[in-house]
Parts: sequence; C-alpha cells; structure tokens
Amino acid sequence: MWVSFVLGTAFGVEFLLRATVEIREVRMGAKFNFFSILRCVPLVNDLVPLEVPRREEPLVVDGFVKAHEKVHLLCHHRMKRNLARMSIFLLVIFGLVVALNDLRLNAWQALLVLHFLFAILRLPYHLITWLQEYDADALAVKELHSAIAQRSLEKLTIREIPHSALFAFLYQEHPTAKMRLRQVSTKKK
Ligand SMILES: [Zn+2]
Repeated sequence: MWVSFVLGTAFGVEFLLRATVEIREVRMGAKFNFFSILRCVPLVNDLVPLEVPRREEPLVVDGFVKAHEKVHLLCHHRMKRNLARMSIFLLVIFGLVVALNDLRLNAWQALLVLHFLFAILRLPYHLITWLQEYDADALAVKELHSAIAQRSLEKLTIREIPHSALFAFLYQEHPTAKMRLRQVSTKKK
C-alpha cells in the first residue's frame, strides 16, 4: 500500500537526516553516546530525553538572568508560546483527522503521521522561542550593561553541553549560550 511506502520512506529519511546531524556534532567535538542513537530513531526520539544535562555547575540567578526573565514576563512571552503550542496542537489534530478520514490509517501509521507533523511544526515553534530569547537578551542588555550580560552568559556556557546551532535549532527552545553570548557581545550599551 502506498501509504505504508510513503511513511516508511519518511521514517528512513528522518533517520538518515538525524544521523547526519549526529555525525556532524561528533566531528565538531560533541560526545557520541547512547542518546545520540536514540535521537535518530523516529518515535523513540519523542519518548526519550534529549540527553542527560550537566550537573556540576549550579545555575546562578544573577542580575542578567533576572532582567532577562523580567522581559519575558513584560512581553507576555509565555502566553505567546502557549498560543503557538496550542495552534500546533490543533494543526496536528486537524492533519491527523484528515489523514485518518482520507487514508484509513492503522494505529502505527497514525502514530507516525502524528510524529512527523510534530517534528515539522516544532521548527517554526523554535523560531518563535529563539526570537523571544534574543529579544529578552537584547532588552536585558539595554537595562544593564553588555559586560554584565557577557559574564552571565559565559557562566551559562560552562553549564551547557556544547552543540552546534543546527542541533540546537532542531532540539531546543533556546539558542545555545554561546550563540547568545555572540549576539550580546555585538550589542553596545
Ligand atoms: Zn529566556
């Protein structure tokens, strides 16, 4: 049946694309571990955590972190994120209903359709959250000073598992601390 063929091909393509990203990460200095494999497998990557977070450095809530969080609050970023999440959820349900109606999917096929819809719509969602993070940083820098922001973000880079921008965009709601630091460093008070 052609639906199985299309979904099977999509499964294979996603696996290959994610594996390519993992190989690129390792070449750029990231560690290869069990989570790297789990991230490549469609459906499994929805269920497992991204990776084990670093534990050694506690998060320091300094002036910059407070100013950054204040911007999130004043600009209603959380509400906008929730709205975006809700829209994605409704789009996915709509897509699934259409697929179930027109294609007569079995349970596994329906699960795969759900997975692919979420995997694709996650990217515009990350674009929204990344813009919010950069906005919050930029306005926090205006309130404090870029040197304070830089010191704070340098501390954050130590806590972070280093990943490329591509990896971060695929998996995280935040740009990496290194990317934020670069952005903040170009801003002048
Ligand atoms: Zn933030």
